[in-house]
Amino acid sequence: MGSRVCLVHYHEIGLKGKNRARFEHILMDNLKAALAAFSVATVTRISGHILVTFSVAGEAERAFPLIARVPGVARVSLAFHTNRDPREYGQAAIDALAEAGDFESFKVAARRSNTDYELTSLDLNRQVGEVLCEAYPDKKVLMHDPDAVVHVLVVQGSVYVYARSVPGVGGLPQGSAGKVMTLLSSGIDSPVATWMLARRGAVPVPVHFSGRPQTADTSEQLVEDIVRALAPAVQVGRVYVVPFGDCQREISLACPGALRVIMYRRIMYAVTERLAALEGAKAIVTGESLGQVASQTLENIMAVNEVVDLPVFRPLIGSDKQEIIARAKQIGTYEISTQVAPDCCTLFMPRRPETHAKLDAVHEAWELFDHEAMIEQLVAAAEYVDFDAPCYRAPRALAERHTVLAPRA
Ligand code: ATP
Ligand code: MG
Repeated sequence: MGSRVCLVHYHEIGLKGKNRARFEHILMDNLKAALAAFSVATVTRISGHILVTFSVAGEAERAFPLIARVPGVARVSLAFHTNRDPREYGQAAIDALAEAGDFESFKVAARRSNTDYELTSLDLNRQVGEVLCEAYPDKKVLMHDPDAVVHVLVVQGSVYVYARSVPGVGGLPQGSAGKVMTLLSSGIDSPVATWMLARRGAVPVPVHFSGRPQTADTSEQLVEDIVRALAPAVQVGRVYVVPFGDCQREISLACPGALRVIMYRRIMYAVTERLAALEGAKAIVTGESLGQVASQTLENIMAVNEVVDLPVFRPLIGSDKQEIIARAKQIGTYEISTQVAPDCCTLFMPRRPETHAKLDAVHEAWELFDHEAMIEQLVAAAEYVDFDAPCYRAPRALAERHTVLAPRA
């Protein structure tokens, strides 16, 4: 039996013409980072795939589901690696089919990436097919839509054989699209929005507004847990934490109750835009979904959006809650997001928030407190926590100005 390796398949990055090599390198770096806890021997390109080999037996099997979660991975297969000896790859085909799950029908799909091998793909299909028919006499060979497919890939001196293969999350490798600031609460939606932008190749830099010092720091802890749940497949290198409680109190004393939430949100957006300038991030991302709560009506989104110039992306705007919940479960953040934590959202909430804000009233309320000074003060008071994420590049000269928080265990 040959050794076990993971074969990574990608679609979209294959379409990027001249950029292809760049995208492949980013994906290879991200795979290495995601697999830092494994004894990875090599990560190389072979014939339109990325091959990951391990130096310890059993690791390919364990790494296989993790690789499927890395953005840019369309599919991952757990393969046997053998030499070109037909007995070796024939046995690998028997073993591969044994781990394909329940099946009644199968076929062989062989491919050789270079023509210096004497057997053609058709010869290989026939040869391996015969071995399998002998090993599995009660199973049927079916060319159209079989239950299992045994792939045989000949690349130079090596043969890769697999039947076990799972879809990956797809998308593009993180770091291929630049940075975005994501407004990350500890709720269900914004971790999903953050993940979605990461899947499209962006490096998310979350900003969390905490109710501190008016509340405990429980929500900050949950936000860190969310970042750890996304890792190591999805990388977040830094989370900004803005203690917002005192400013919320000031706003709640100065502004009409119904417009408070809009004022909080305008401040959050404006502070995030300033942090984006420090980070070199080119967009703001939120977890808003149209009409889901009072603050997410078209009027209110407009009343908040106007304080910033950067594009604001709302990847969940057309999603239903059930879809968002299903995704949150899949990416591992749901359990964390359903823990209760007082954050700035629960602090100083009006009994009846405005659902269809009029811009004139919003502008009037905005002038009732020194919003410019507040924004500046909050930007200066922003703290941050760093995580291991090679695709994130920290801006220079921030360290002296902001408090660095140690990540919690
Ligand atoms: P979520 O589930 O993401 O908390 P939500 O359904 O609770 O969203 P809102 O409270 O209206 O909805 O928040 C809308 C969006 O505003 C959030 O998805 C998030 O992007 C941002 N946001 C809300 N509260 C915070 C916070 N404390 N810190 C950072 N961003 C926040
Ligand atoms: Mg929320």
